[in-house]
Amino acid sequence: MASTESPTAQPPEERVLSEIFNSSTADLTLRTHDAVDFRVHRYVLVMASTVFEGMCSLPQPTAAAGEKQELPVVQMGEDSHTMTRLLMLLYPDKHPTHIDVTMLPDVLRAAEKYDMHGVVAQLGNFLRRADYVQKHPLEVFALACQYNFGDDLIELAAKASLRQVSPLKTLGSLPPAARGLSAGAYHGLLVYRQKCTNILLPMLVNWPHPDVIVGKPVWHTCICRLKTNNGKYSSPLPSWYADHVERTMAAFSQVVDASTLRSPNLIATTTYQFSPLAAGTAAAAPGVAKGRGKPAASCNCAESAPYELVKFHAVVADEVERQLDRMKFQLLG
Ligand SMILES: [Zn+2]
Repeated sequence: MASTESPTAQPPEERVLSEIFNSSTADLTLRTHDAVDFRVHRYVLVMASTVFEGMCSLPQPTAAAGEKQELPVVQMGEDSHTMTRLLMLLYPDKHPTHIDVTMLPDVLRAAEKYDMHGVVAQLGNFLRRADYVQKHPLEVFALACQYNFGDDLIELAAKASLRQVSPLKTLGSLPPAARGLSAGAYHGLLVYRQKCTNILLPMLVNWPHPDVIVGKPVWHTCICRLKTNNGKYSSPLPSWYADHVERTMAAFSQVVDASTLRSPNLIATTTYQFSPLAAGTAAAAPGVAKGRGKPAASCNCAESAPYELVKFHAVVADEVERQLDRMKFQLLG
C-alpha cells in the first residue's frame, strides 16, 4: 500500500528555536535538518568562513515599510547537535570547555565543509589535551591523521593507544569516532603495536645475559632447566619460567606498558606454584608445570624464584619504559 504522506516531512510548527542561539540582534536563521532554528549574526559567520562570506554577499530581500521582517533562513545539512558545537566554537563568549569525542567527527566535517580553518584548528587543540589523548587515543589518532593535526599528535596518540587493551583486532571493532582511519594508518598502528610488544621477549629470555655469572637468576642456573627445557628458547629455561614468559607476553600484548610488568598479580600467579599452599596440586613443584616431568633433585627454584622474579620484573619494567619512550611511530607508505 502506497502512502500519500511522506513520513519524513517535517511540519513547520514542529520547529524549535535553539536555547543558546536565539539572540534578538541576530540577522540570519540557520535551520538544521532536525528542524531547529539557530539565530546567528552574519558577521560572525563571515569572519570565520569563506563559504558564508560568499553566501552573505548575495543581495538580501528587504521588507516593505511597516512589514515585520522574518530573518532569512539558510537550510543546513547538519543536525542541531553538530550545529550547536560548531556555533559555540565561533562565538567567543560561548566557547565549550569540552566536546564529547563521539561528536568530533561530525563537527570537524562541518567545519571543513564551511571552510572554517579557525574552528578546525581549535578542535585540533582540543585533541591535544590529555583527557582526549589518554582516554580516547584511537579517536585522536584517527582524527589527527585525517585532518593533518601534526606528526607529534599522531605519535602521542599512537603511544597512548598501546596502553589500551587490544582495540585493534578488526577495523569494525574501532570506536565509531575512529572509523575514519585509513587502511594505511590502521596498518601502521598495528605494526607499531607489534614492534613495541616485541621489545619484551628478548629481555625475559636473555636477561641477565646467560654469560654473566654474577647476578644470574635461578632460572638461568638451576639444574631443572636442563631437564625441562622445551626447546623453544635459545637458552635452556625451566618449564615454570617458560610458562611465565608466555603469560607475561600475553599480558603485555594486551596492555603494552611497563605497568603490566609491575603487576603483582602477574608475578603472584607464577610464584604461587612455589608456595606451600600449592603443594599437592598438579602444578605444585617447580619444573613440573603442566606435567613436563619431575623436577631435578637439586632444584633451587622454589627457594629463590619468588624473590628474584620480583627484583627482575622491576628492572625489566624500567627498561621497557625507557625503550617504549624511544619507539618512534611512523606512518607507512
Ligand atoms: Zn629449578
